[in-house]
Amino acid sequence: MSVLPQSAGVDFHCHLDLYPDHEAAIARAEAARIYTLAVTTTPKAWPRNHELTRHTHYVRAALGLHPQLVAERAGELSLWEQYLPQTRYVGEVGLDAGPRFYKSLDVQVRVFRRILERCAESGGKILTVHSVRSVPTVLDMLERHYPQDRGAVVLHWFTGSKRDARRAVAIGCYFSVNGEMIRSEKGRALLGELPSDRILTETDGPFTEIAGRPAEPANVQTTIGEIARVRNVTADAMGDILRSNLQTLLLHVSERPAS
Ligand code: MN
Repeated sequence: MSVLPQSAGVDFHCHLDLYPDHEAAIARAEAARIYTLAVTTTPKAWPRNHELTRHTHYVRAALGLHPQLVAERAGELSLWEQYLPQTRYVGEVGLDAGPRFYKSLDVQVRVFRRILERCAESGGKILTVHSVRSVPTVLDMLERHYPQDRGAVVLHWFTGSKRDARRAVAIGCYFSVNGEMIRSEKGRALLGELPSDRILTETDGPFTEIAGRPAEPANVQTTIGEIARVRNVTADAMGDILRSNLQTLLLHVSERPAS
């Protein structure tokens, strides 16, 4: 990938297909020049997302099977495997051990393990990973089933401890940070500890809000300013860091061809 344009932003986790008008949401991300990873929650959503992002410049689609949906949709794992060769981006995947989804944790672990094994076999994939109340288990599974030299992992909306974060850094993970994370004391403290070269931005739209409305990719500009304040750098410098991190991530992964 060539040098990213100066003004472009990064939204590495957004559910563009969950806005009232999917195509219009993609068009707005393109117009705002935000490099957007359009995550999906079920493999059945893949063909339409893939179709709509085949010729976009800034928006790419990711193939997902969301841990919160695994209880009902574990049967779609074979469909997920069938589509995997069509993309280098995978997500939303991961684990959710929160009270509502704890019941399905065994199935979630089985599905996530299979996803990691398939991604490790194929090589060159970039994963956006959900880890609610399950960070140590997610990190254990990444270590065991997804060796660092097979691809890359971005931990989305990370809520682990500082110790978990250090462990994630040691195994090569990136972190995509949204505005909601910066609103808590704990989130700001964690953000202050992350290495500069592992930070990306996300909205997780429409599940976060900016100024009382569902966040959209263009809103990452606000988040960049907030991250810059926490880390005591200028917003311009932070924007440069984020673009450089995205570029490094994409280059790093493309250097590792599938075996
Ligand atoms: Mn999400």
